[in-house]
Amino acid sequence: MGDLTIGIDIGGTSVRASVVDDHGVMLDTLRAATPPTAGALEHCLDRLVGELTSRWAAKAVGLAIAGFLTPDRQMIRFAPHLPWREARVADDMTARIGIPVFLEHDANAAAVAEWRFGAAARGHNSLVLAIGTGIGAGLLLDGEIYRGSFGVAPELGHLTVVPGGRPCSCGKLGCWERYCSGTALVDTVIELLADGDWGRSQLAADVAADPGSLTGRRVAGAAADGDAVALAAFAQFAASLGQGLAMIADIFDPDLIVLAGGVGAASGLFLDEAREHYARLVTGSGHRQLARIRGTQLGESAGVVGAAEVARQGIRAAVTDTLRG
Ligand SMILES: [Zn+2]
Repeated sequence: MGDLTIGIDIGGTSVRASVVDDHGVMLDTLRAATPPTAGALEHCLDRLVGELTSRWAAKAVGLAIAGFLTPDRQMIRFAPHLPWREARVADDMTARIGIPVFLEHDANAAAVAEWRFGAAARGHNSLVLAIGTGIGAGLLLDGEIYRGSFGVAPELGHLTVVPGGRPCSCGKLGCWERYCSGTALVDTVIELLADGDWGRSQLAADVAADPGSLTGRRVAGAAADGDAVALAAFAQFAASLGQGLAMIADIFDPDLIVLAGGVGAASGLFLDEAREHYARLVTGSGHRQLARIRGTQLGESAGVVGAAEVARQGIRAAVTDTLRG
C-alpha cells in the first residue's frame, strides 16, 4: 500500500479529509462544515486528523486551499472564503498534531492529482481548468506545477476578456470568470431575459416566478431540456471559453487541457462549440496543432487526492534532504 497520507480540501462551505494511498485511492473519508473562525477551523482540522490517524498510520497531511500562499508555502497570506490572514498554518498545525503538514493551492492540488492519477496523465504541458463558481487553474510542465516567480501564478480567471465589462470580486472589470463560470451563466440569463421576449421558455417563466431559483445548475438543466434562453447562455459561455483557451494557448501552447469543476462536468453542453471558437481564435489558426481537451477523471475528489499527493512528495523531499545532509 506504500505510504499513507491525509488530504484535506478546505472549501468555503465544507471540509473534506481522506486517508489516501500511493495509488490515489481514498480509504477513509470524513466531512465537516467549514467553521467561521480561525480557532474553530484549526480545532476542526485537528479533530478530523485525530480521528483518521486513530485508524490509519498516516505520515503527513496536505491541505488544499483557495487562497494566496507564501512562495515557500508555509503561510496563508489571504484566502477570500476562509478566516486565515497572514497565518503560519503549516508550522502551527505540525506542532499541534505531531506529523508534517504541507499547504497547496486547491487548483494546483487538483492539477497534481489529475496528472498523477487522472485525465492529465502523460500530458507534456497541461492545463487543468476548474470551472465552477469561478475559474481555478493549474499549469503543469511535465508534472511540475508552474508557480511563477512569486508563487501566485496563474490567475487565469482574472484575465480581462471584456474591457469595461462585468464587475469582478477582484476589483477589476470584465474578468474571464465573469463570463465563463456557473455564476456567469446566471448573469448571462438575467441579461438575456432583460433584452428580449423569450415566449415559451420554461426558464424565463421560472425566473419570473422566483428570481432566487436561478443557479448555474438550473441553467445547465434547462439547456439539457432544450430551453432557448439556457441554450443562448451556453452559446455565450462556449464563445468565452474558446476565447480564453485561445489566449492561454498563445502564451502557453499546451498539448492537453482538462476541464474540471461543477460546470466543467457538463461539458456535453458546450465543448464542441468552445473547441470551434478556440481553433478559430488562436494565432496561426489552421497552421498549428491544438491541445486535446478532456473531462476530469477524479471529479470533486481531485483536491483531496492532490493534497495527499503533495504531502507524500513533501515527506519524500524531506527524506532526500536529510540523506544529503
Ligand atoms: Zn477578477
